[in-house]
Amino acid sequence: MPFYYIWTIGCQMNKAESERLGSYLEQTGYQLTGNAEQADIIIINSCVVRQSAENKVVNKLAALKALKSNHPDKTIALTGCLVSPALDQLKKRFPHVDHFFQPGAPPPWAANQDKPGITLPQQPSPSTYVPIIQGCNNTCSYCIVPSRRGGEVSRPVTEITGEVTELVRRGVKEVTLLGQNVDSYGHDLPDKPDLADLLTELNNIDNLARIRFLTNHPKDMSHRLIEAVARLDKVCEQINVPAQSGDDDILKAMRRGYTAAQYRQLITHIRDNIPGVALSTDIIVGFPSETRPQFRHTVDMLTELRFDTVHVAAYSPRTGTIAARDLADNMTPEEKKERLKEIEQLQTAIATELNARLLGQTAEVLVEGRHKGKWQGRTRSDKLVFFSGDKDYRSQLVNIRIEKTSPWSLQGKII
Ligand code: SAH
Ligand code: SF4
Repeated sequence: MPFYYIWTIGCQMNKAESERLGSYLEQTGYQLTGNAEQADIIIINSCVVRQSAENKVVNKLAALKALKSNHPDKTIALTGCLVSPALDQLKKRFPHVDHFFQPGAPPPWAANQDKPGITLPQQPSPSTYVPIIQGCNNTCSYCIVPSRRGGEVSRPVTEITGEVTELVRRGVKEVTLLGQNVDSYGHDLPDKPDLADLLTELNNIDNLARIRFLTNHPKDMSHRLIEAVARLDKVCEQINVPAQSGDDDILKAMRRGYTAAQYRQLITHIRDNIPGVALSTDIIVGFPSETRPQFRHTVDMLTELRFDTVHVAAYSPRTGTIAARDLADNMTPEEKKERLKEIEQLQTAIATELNARLLGQTAEVLVEGRHKGKWQGRTRSDKLVFFSGDKDYRSQLVNIRIEKTSPWSLQGKII
């Protein structure tokens, strides 16, 4: 039996696309192996959102060079955001790679299938990603994603509801709808449905327990969407709204299209409308010319808004972006690291307090699998929970009394 090996790095979209590529290969007779040497097809699903990710991809590809020269019959394919439209350059840089295909595009071995996105996992995990919109129409000055994934293309509502219905039939309990800019879903479709419409449709699917979606752009987060999250019982009270900065001048230079005050209003509006909502955000520190006072504005905003989760990254100039072209990356790595650490420490303190409030409470947990001898799952608010139990709880919704909390996870007992 032929084998495939797949190595994935980067965002949830990459993970979802790898899962679908794997399912397609399995349906055509391939078997997964964790060992590239054993594989007939080797897929590298890359990320270049920051230099650190790109370096890992380049190292991984370099490590495959000897394998390919010893076994020329093996097929190596590269996808993900390292695959730019400049294919000739890529072919020169990685001559041992047989195929390059853009993120979300069909792989060459599925050329006759125009929608590999609908190749569903045979044995999907209880919580599965479903891409609903590809690409991004924004022009955030630091971001390479639009130039690699192209403009926004939404999948029709009926296609998504059909897919989710089938996933549920195969045992899926929770779906996370994915898009680089998921809250602008639908504007490019004939009758312009929006994400609120799609959520309303999905909420009607029997035996589906939970729906989530990410990542959102603050400027596209409508009242209709917030109201839908509040109204629809299956849609979890959990929203990711990347701020990137709390300073108006930096936000302007980032071309984010909102001010810090508008962002604060949005968060207040979400909290007023969705009781108990868990919020997460993304922050970039060390954007070109970010002064100490400007950085303070971000720290102040995070201190004030108290997110459940903050994903923080140090600015990394990406060739081909507006910021890399026009603005000098003028902060030392040490200074960036210091700012990153300051936010991480602040967030650890906030998450410690927020999670400690859950002590003694009961939470509904969807069990995803086992980890280090314990069952592992998530609450509706996306908190990771561990508990012990002899029965097979996989895929079940269980009630857990929280007995121990940390900034990163909760532990409890099944009721
Ligand atoms: N669409 C989402 C984010 C996609 S990229 C949004 O609008 O926020 C995922 C995260 O990577 C971003 O939120 C940002 O924090 C980070 N990121 C993107 N480009 C970056 C860069 N050049 N340097 C550092 N972090 C970056
Ligand atoms: Fe990148 Fe901005 Fe699009 Fe997010 S919204 S993918 S940060 S360009």
